[in-house]
Amino acid sequence: MNHSPSADGTLTLPESLNSSDHDVHPLLEVRHLTKRFPVRQGFASRWFNAVDDVSFHVRARETYALVGESGSGKSTTGRTVLRLVEAGAGQVRFDGKDVFTLRAKPLREWRKEVQMIFQDPLSSLDPKRSIGYSIEEPLIIHRIGTRRERLERVRQLLIRVGFTAADAGRYPHEFSGGQRQRIGIAKALILNPRLIICDEPVSALDVSIQSQILNLLMELQREQALSYLFIAHDLSVVHHIADRIGVMYRGRIVEEAPTETLFSSPRHPYTQFLLASIPPTHPRLKNTGSLPVITDTGGPRRRQGGCVFSDRCPYARPACHEQTPPERQVGRQHRVACFLYP
Ligand code: SF4
Repeated sequence: MNHSPSADGTLTLPESLNSSDHDVHPLLEVRHLTKRFPVRQGFASRWFNAVDDVSFHVRARETYALVGESGSGKSTTGRTVLRLVEAGAGQVRFDGKDVFTLRAKPLREWRKEVQMIFQDPLSSLDPKRSIGYSIEEPLIIHRIGTRRERLERVRQLLIRVGFTAADAGRYPHEFSGGQRQRIGIAKALILNPRLIICDEPVSALDVSIQSQILNLLMELQREQALSYLFIAHDLSVVHHIADRIGVMYRGRIVEEAPTETLFSSPRHPYTQFLLASIPPTHPRLKNTGSLPVITDTGGPRRRQGGCVFSDRCPYARPACHEQTPPERQVGRQHRVACFLYP
């Protein structure tokens, strides 16, 4: 099902949600993705694996969350998928197409299908332009529709995300953080994408506003058959929105499972640590109180080849410091990279 505007530039709302052709294959497949950056150490430099052999997939109409602390590589993964940064190795396939080999027109066409929502919506809104223009701009860039058709589409989207048509003439500074994120969502939707990469879209907002934005994203997903790659540092944020979760630590996915499985039976010690870190008073979620508390020792980085979590893990054994634990299937759609699960 193609939600892109038609070749003649006519703007249409998404087609029927009844098609099942994308249920067979994943919409997005990421295989062995690796991205390294050089870092300076005194006079020497070394390579830092921001994303290290990461594989996952996102199905049509699914929300797949990548969760981990700051610096775990989740945002770099999202940006590499979108080709905002070039990958060092690995493959990304979108609807069967090899994204890294796309050039010129096929690349421009693919860019309409995948959009991004940022933590700071101001980064995608021009402060000197009205929000109506900012939302319309991708249509102008891709030469889609007549002026009248574009304005009508902007009006529809503004109303859908909770504004009035008259708000199109206002400027970004006139809105609150939550309202700006709604504007960012409208802008991401203007080209009728199939996949949206949501990079920490609610982490700068109050908890009550977070819930409103998450609810809006879930409603839009149902209405427009969207898939989300949802990036967050907080498991409590993704609990309601994600179908499956990949937990990232220092560039690697250490555990992946359906959301309810991950919350009820976390296997990796780092996932257990993240769950135990959710305050018992959290309004959306309470921790079980039975998970181990692991503190960040600030200890040395692991030696090359060992488990990424070995310098913090209370269960570490000698092999953990020497060898990378292979991924094991420990349940339906549940994989974990830890020597505790042979
Ligand atoms: Fe801990 Fe070893 Fe498992 Fe890594 S492989 S999480 S160090 S027990």
